Amino acid sequence: MSVFKSTMVGTGAAQRRIVVDTESLLPHVDSLAYLREKAEHQPSTADTYASRLPIFFTWQTERQLSYLEAAERFADFLNFLRVTPVTRQGRGQNRTRNLQQNNNILIAVRDLYDHLVSHGLVANEALDLLWVYVDRRDRTVRRPRHAFAPSKPSRPNMPNPDEALRILDAVAAEDNPRNFFIYTLLSLLPLRIGTVAGFRRYDLHAVPDAVEYALLDPWGLKEGREDLCRVRGPHLHVVKRFDNPNRALAKTGDGRAYPMDPLMLVAYDLYTAQRLNLAPDADDNDMLLVVLGDPTRRGQALSIKSIRSMVARWGRQAGVPDLRPHALRHYWASSALDEGASIEVVQEMLGHASPETTRSIYVHISQEAMAKATEKRARYLREGRNP
Ligand SMILES: [Zn+2]
Repeated sequence: MSVFKSTMVGTGAAQRRIVVDTESLLPHVDSLAYLREKAEHQPSTADTYASRLPIFFTWQTERQLSYLEAAERFADFLNFLRVTPVTRQGRGQNRTRNLQQNNNILIAVRDLYDHLVSHGLVANEALDLLWVYVDRRDRTVRRPRHAFAPSKPSRPNMPNPDEALRILDAVAAEDNPRNFFIYTLLSLLPLRIGTVAGFRRYDLHAVPDAVEYALLDPWGLKEGREDLCRVRGPHLHVVKRFDNPNRALAKTGDGRAYPMDPLMLVAYDLYTAQRLNLAPDADDNDMLLVVLGDPTRRGQALSIKSIRSMVARWGRQAGVPDLRPHALRHYWASSALDEGASIEVVQEMLGHASPETTRSIYVHISQEAMAKATEKRARYLREGRNP
């Protein structure tokens, strides 16, 4: 089996890139003349194209296809590109190429075919397999027959409503107030795991009225000021800090305050009592979430890894393999939209910079909601009554 790669040959101004067989290290013959000719007019383009052709020659040679046969099966080459990871060492190794990189490879291969056909090395009809010809008023233009198109945004990975219920059951079955509290942080709010692991106890203003209690704004504290918190009702503050002992970092939402639901407040109170009971020495630890089990680390900040494996365990108990904290965030967002929250509110709570980001991820969900709404209207028109 031949596998091709590109390599630089020559020295000084004569240096250029060619395609070689990785086993024999012999040059790929058909491409030599093409690349030489290209280098006469466009030397850097020739080098770039030389680096894009090996994957095509590898695919063609593995299948023992003539150039014409390869053009006939070009769609198969696109599939091959889609799934074949980069083998060359360096950035991107072992990952598949992105859309742009794949399209760039197609451009180089089509250019090679132009050369081969114009030199009579491959039959003309190969070009008809690669291009479509479109008549314009004064001329005929050709368009590539094959291209990688951006795929529709896929549905974010998240539990369905039944799975979400089973996850809740799994959390409740653990009967561990701290874990239940973590669950409320991840599912009653769309918080990221870094945010959750990075909370300080004074970020939570779990009082009826922070203004009346004259609590300090933790975001101001980070900046070295002693501002009073102005947020009414129980809430928590997201503050991006680079000095957390567990290296947790709030990715977005720095300075935002999120409401604390009564259920979250109850969970917080139960956890506080549990923590005081199991890790009394951690009373001077400001980190909100601490280790309660492992006696060697008891009272230390809970790691992101621990929370991740906790969530994965809930997933296993609930029959939802590979459950990640982020899936709960997605579930929160899609449920909120389904239940009628506006895209602006969801955007704000997710910490997205613009509603477009939120829309691009969740638009399919609102489309489902729209279909449902239309169906309801249609039923009303048919039956003359509200459903
Ligand atoms: Zn506050």
